[in-house]
Amino acid sequence: MDFEDTPQEAAFRTRARAWIEANAPKHLAPELKRASFGSSAVTSEDPLKAAKAWQKKKAEGGWACLHWPKEYGGAGCTPIERVIWNQEEGIYGALTGPFIIGQGMCGPTVMAWAAEEHKRRLLPPLASGEEIWCQLFSEPAGGSDLAGLRTRAVPADDGSGDWIVNGQKIWTSGAQHSDWGLLITRTDPDVPKHKGLTMFFLSMKTPGVEVRPIKQANGQSGFNEVYFTDVRIPDSQRLGPVGKGWEVSLTTLMNERLSIGAGMSTFFPELFRMCLETEVEGRPAVDDPAVRSKLAQFAVRQSGLRYTGMRAITALSKGETPGPENSIGKLVAGATMQELATFALDLQGQAGVVWDSTSPQEGRFQALLMRSPATRIEGGSDEILRNIIGERVLGLPGDIRVDKDVAFKDIPTSGRAKKGGKA
Ligand SMILES: Cc1cc2nc3c(=O)[nH]c(=O)nc-3n(C[C@H](O)[C@H](O)[C@H](O)COP(=O)(O)OP(=O)(O)OC[C@H]3O[C@@H](n4cnc5c(N)ncnc54)[C@H](O)[C@@H]3O)c2cc1C
Repeated sequence: MDFEDTPQEAAFRTRARAWIEANAPKHLAPELKRASFGSSAVTSEDPLKAAKAWQKKKAEGGWACLHWPKEYGGAGCTPIERVIWNQEEGIYGALTGPFIIGQGMCGPTVMAWAAEEHKRRLLPPLASGEEIWCQLFSEPAGGSDLAGLRTRAVPADDGSGDWIVNGQKIWTSGAQHSDWGLLITRTDPDVPKHKGLTMFFLSMKTPGVEVRPIKQANGQSGFNEVYFTDVRIPDSQRLGPVGKGWEVSLTTLMNERLSIGAGMSTFFPELFRMCLETEVEGRPAVDDPAVRSKLAQFAVRQSGLRYTGMRAITALSKGETPGPENSIGKLVAGATMQELATFALDLQGQAGVVWDSTSPQEGRFQALLMRSPATRIEGGSDEILRNIIGERVLGLPGDIRVDKDVAFKDIPTSGRAKKGGKA
């Protein structure tokens, strides 16, 4: 790893900086500066419109999905150039939220598994933000145990080769404004659970798809329930072979952990600034030995995360695919964010319990505290990531999996309506 820009990288940085300076939506800068992880960045205008406008501008300027090949709407840049871009994009990167799932997870899956004609049709509008994607994986009975999912896809009985899908997904982020979805289904309940899955993509406007937003405690609706009733999907929209959906899903999940974990900010610089500005017993908090000790711990973790992220990027730039070790970033970042936000609110004293425009630091740490538990669940909970690291990175003995070799339809569940795999 070399942390200094090469002459080419320095030239790229200069070009990126100049373009951003000339084109960024500067009128949104004050709002974006106040944004915290999980708080809606833009409120003065429709945030989705603002996000799409910035993404479109980037695409027109040749700055969208930089690491994707040009024929798919990218710019064919190196992973390092992408990191440089992200550094330079700075606060305007907060506008990319609606595209993270599509560009970070669905896009790489389509690129790895779809037919060429589909890649050319689907990827450029995904890169330019004209079309949004969602990830239709989790179900009431298939979250951590994704392979326990029950949404069924069966061949249509009219000889068309189409598939008919029935079932329910849950926690589908952004489904309410998505154009396309990446959908994993069960096509064979007679084989062990990981072996009977098949992946598709589909338009979210397909008849029989119903999206129901879930109202959250914070008043927002970031995710949804999605119901499928006799939804017809052409076989040409299958990704990978029938029964190999688990293998296809691993492309999505590895990219998911990388795109959620890599470069995730733990808000240490913001905490440090707050400790300079906040007084504890008549002196700046940063002078207090106990505060300094805590800051040192967060600083160590922040830099460990930074270098672990750099290691992943170095591997990517050598053409390696994201592996299980990328689970470390999200695991450490999620827990650190939660601990750091709790510490910040403790320092704020009574003001820490207030979350409105009068809150210290514009309520950023309150927002962080409210969001961090979700970070520790989405894309694999802490426990699941520890299992992955234990088993696949450290080589420790595996979790006990009593249903590994049992046909899915024979796995006992309390919610099964009748034997035969269809709940
Ligand atoms: C903000 C957010 C956005 C999301 N967006 C999407 C999305 O867009 N698309 C999508 O498909 N899903 C999405 N999800 C769902 C997410 O992937 C699941 O919530 C997650 O996989 C956990 O599944 P679950 O909620 O069913 O919890 P469960 O699997 O029921 O887990 C409950 C608890 O048991 C623990 N546990 C489970 N199995 C084990 C084990 N083997 N060993 C030890 N502990 C275990 C878990 O760690 C957890 O603490 C989102 C979730 C969140 C929070």
